[in-house]
Amino acid sequence: MQIEELLANLHTQMIVGGRAVPARSGKTFAVYDPASGREIAQVPDGDADDVAAAVAVAKNAFESSEWRRMPPAAREHLLLKLADLVEQHGDELAALETLNQGKLLGFSRMLEVGGSAQWLRYMAGWATKIEGSTVDLSLSFPPGVQYRASTQRVPVGVVAAVVPWNFPLLMAVWKIAPALACGCTVVLKPAEETPLTAIRLAELALEAGFPPGVLNVVTGRGETAGAALVRHPDVDKVTFTGSTEVGRLIGAQCGRDIRRVSLELGGKSPVIVLDDCDPRKAIEGAAGAIFFNHGQVCTAGSRLYVPRSMYGQIVEGIAQVANSLVLGSGFDEKTQMGPLVSSRHRDKVVGMIAEGRAQGGEIMAGGAAHDGAGYFVRPTVVANEGRKPLSLVNEEVFGPVLVAMPYDDLEEAISAANSSEYGLGASVWTNQLDKALRVVDRMEAGTVWVNSHNMVDPALPFGGFKSSGVGREHGRAIIDAYTETKSVCFAY
Ligand code: NAD
Repeated sequence: MQIEELLANLHTQMIVGGRAVPARSGKTFAVYDPASGREIAQVPDGDADDVAAAVAVAKNAFESSEWRRMPPAAREHLLLKLADLVEQHGDELAALETLNQGKLLGFSRMLEVGGSAQWLRYMAGWATKIEGSTVDLSLSFPPGVQYRASTQRVPVGVVAAVVPWNFPLLMAVWKIAPALACGCTVVLKPAEETPLTAIRLAELALEAGFPPGVLNVVTGRGETAGAALVRHPDVDKVTFTGSTEVGRLIGAQCGRDIRRVSLELGGKSPVIVLDDCDPRKAIEGAAGAIFFNHGQVCTAGSRLYVPRSMYGQIVEGIAQVANSLVLGSGFDEKTQMGPLVSSRHRDKVVGMIAEGRAQGGEIMAGGAAHDGAGYFVRPTVVANEGRKPLSLVNEEVFGPVLVAMPYDDLEEAISAANSSEYGLGASVWTNQLDKALRVVDRMEAGTVWVNSHNMVDPALPFGGFKSSGVGREHGRAIIDAYTETKSVCFAY
């Protein structure tokens, strides 16, 4: 799809109660094309008033008979229809994501569009499989009375979904698909950097036949719209994906309000190469683990542990890959890495690289922003042979920056890999089954990959240990996140 045609047909209003609306204040803010730095749209700068309006219609839709009495198979049908519409509008959605987020068009097509359709279909299947159980009770009081008890799972209610900018459409679908399958209604707040595909998703949901008010989108800033949404008294459940810093604030707020909350937060995922691994495979695997989506992946393999005997060869090999990557617009077929999402994020990443260098890290590739327009950072490899306590080893960069460290024995590598406040993902690269299992058993991470990295699937639970989050998304586990258990007890 031509960019100019896309720009001429942008949908930029919030979707509340089935209607496209501006912010009540009339205020807007700009969103940009990160590959060129040019402004592409103004979207409503929603605030607490807009949040209140959206939560009111979501609550009304939740309580209305049309949604509440809808049979599970009808919810399944709507989600399947939405998946079809996402695919039918795939060219537009993919182009929109590449324009607004910067990722390669092929990845927008495969992951944002293809992944979203897959998640919607998988979660559609769950709508008809939510069930409780019958329970035999042991106590009987008063004497002679018998009981028959059962449990049923009921939708939790109005869900506030707050998502980040790294996979804008897919992250929105990770939230809305299971919430809608369970019979909840949703107010979605996309990241301020990347609101455009969320707006289109809500429009397509209306086209699919979801009743107005079931899926609402409020665009706005985190400190205003986001903060108002997660503390609104009529929100029954908050589901958040984003930084650990903001996750702490939201978790604390929900704790005070006794509101259900799921948190998918940051990571500093280790990649451990074992000494039997083919160096070419290790180089390719480690480079893919960090440079995919320009390092803007919560599970990015940002810490590399390599046996000392292979260290030089592998670090050199990854540096060569980094130096060879072609940077440019995600629309250009030659491009292998796009820009970071914003000038603010680029400056943060460049600042963290400079800090790592000042603390004694050796820059083997990259190390700076890319000249010219757009928010590009050269893929960067930092060698930390002396295992200094660089901030790059402990802090999430969320950009294309790898820090590599040698190790002398596997136990030492495992302890170093676990010595992080985060615990989202980890990978181990080896053909030795016993050692692979030893690492899998010891890793403090929500997902451990063997000979792969960053692989996710709708059927496989995903989430973090430690400061990487609370709760799990995907698979059967997600149904618990959007339902309450109601116990029912009959005396006879
Ligand atoms: P962020 O925490 O700055 O923002 C995420 C969302 O929260 C945005 O929509 C933002 O507007 C909103 N927000 C910000 N402040 C808020 C507040 N006070 N109250 C309510 N909402 C608020 O994160 P980001 O920079 O957009 O995304 C990058 C982070 O997301 C990284 O740390 C990354 O690891 C994490 N992430 C985690 C996962 C996962 O599944 N664990 C997936 C993707 C990204």
